[in-house]
Amino acid sequence: MSLEHIPSVNELVQRVSTTPPVARMPRPLVVDATRAVLDQYRRSLIEDDAAVLSAEALTERIGERLENELAAPLRPVINATGIIIHTGLGRAPLARRAVAAMEAVAAGYAPVELDMETGRRGRRALVVRDLLCRLTGAESATVVNNNAAALLLAMTCLARGRRVIVSRGELIEIGGSFRLPDIIAAGGALLREVGTTNRTRLADYERAVDESTAAVLKVHPSNYRIEGFRQEVAIGTLAGLGARHNVLVIHDIGSGALDSLEHLGIGSSEPVASVSVKAGADLVLFSGDKLLGGPQAGIIVGRRALIDSIEEHPLMRAMRVDKTTLAALGVTLQLHLDAPTAAEQLPVFAMAAAPIDELRRRGARLAERLDGLAGLDVTIEDSVAYLGGGSLPTEGLPSCALVIRTPAIGEDDMLDRLRRGRHPVVGRAAGGAVWLDLRTVFPAQDEQLLAAIRSAMAQSDREHK
Ligand SMILES: *Cc1c(COP(=O)(O)O)cnc(C)c1O
Repeated sequence: MSLEHIPSVNELVQRVSTTPPVARMPRPLVVDATRAVLDQYRRSLIEDDAAVLSAEALTERIGERLENELAAPLRPVINATGIIIHTGLGRAPLARRAVAAMEAVAAGYAPVELDMETGRRGRRALVVRDLLCRLTGAESATVVNNNAAALLLAMTCLARGRRVIVSRGELIEIGGSFRLPDIIAAGGALLREVGTTNRTRLADYERAVDESTAAVLKVHPSNYRIEGFRQEVAIGTLAGLGARHNVLVIHDIGSGALDSLEHLGIGSSEPVASVSVKAGADLVLFSGDKLLGGPQAGIIVGRRALIDSIEEHPLMRAMRVDKTTLAALGVTLQLHLDAPTAAEQLPVFAMAAAPIDELRRRGARLAERLDGLAGLDVTIEDSVAYLGGGSLPTEGLPSCALVIRTPAIGEDDMLDRLRRGRHPVVGRAAGGAVWLDLRTVFPAQDEQLLAAIRSAMAQSDREHK
């Protein structure tokens, strides 16, 4: 194969630079993109015996590549996994009003550390403190970067160099590098394990308390369940023990439920923040972007003196939240003041509660629109969705999925195409098909989903990688 027909870098840069969107791009970027496309083209000619491309076609490829490079690095995807609080996809989608509040402060200034009443310097969590206290019944509250930070801070500030007692049934790994023993160690506290994996009694804690004990830590096992012959000690009972021995009782409830979820039709075994506060926990820790349905944040509620000392700790600075987080969290908490409003306006709740009949109707409509598309066979199947984020791991939500079989492509390739498209879709492969669960797809995204499937199929005859 002769390579003589290939235009020079200069010639292509000239051509590309006169097409409108590229005309305003920095020249070094255009040159790099041109070189990359030419390299790839040369290789495809030599190694794969690919078809010869005209200068126009090459120009178009360079334009596409530049467009891709200059699009916002983080762009929205359609979550068709059926996992509502999907950590890899950014957890809770925010309520419209929370987004509006975020946007309102993002482009300008907001008094994150200025008490507008007095004009003096104020604490960062001031704007959400009253709301958190009202919703949980706690004396005081503060906000940090995430729940892992909340726990690390609590350990460093309140238990450094001293012992923290934890049941062996609660020494969990949440995912990634969040392992409870590591966080306790990183905070400079000493772990004292008690009980066994499946059973821990009050007497186990009682025997372990001594003068080196700073705290008893109870942790919600979140993403796993021990079933059968099991026993744990309720937070209220631990609070009694803490009071008798003058040690702190800290409850990491993980999911951040502010209320029972029963009214959403989800049988609930999730701990509720206000219940733990009322039961006498000194501090309760939870995430802002799990069942709370807000932005990424770690929330600490509890006794005023403890919150004060956490806020005064030097590490607080390393874990603070920004104005957009505070804005979105504030509005999300306001929505929680009224359960019906929260059920309607928080996407996490709305998705969890969407009636299965409605999902099936949408599925049928989508399948109908894809009917007759060459190379693709689509059916509507029952599936199981999950809350995710470590919440209710064993309670599936009845759902329905668009199940796509593409014999000529194969399900893994089809998944890749859907993920790499202009409107990226994340689904899963099972039983030789691509499953797109509709419980986590917003109804307003149905058209985009169709477009994404059609465009993935249209690539059949185009070079892909
Ligand atoms: C999810 C979870 C965490 C970690 O929370 P992040 O907000 O992701 O840092 C900590 N503890 C428990 C029990 C959890 O479920």
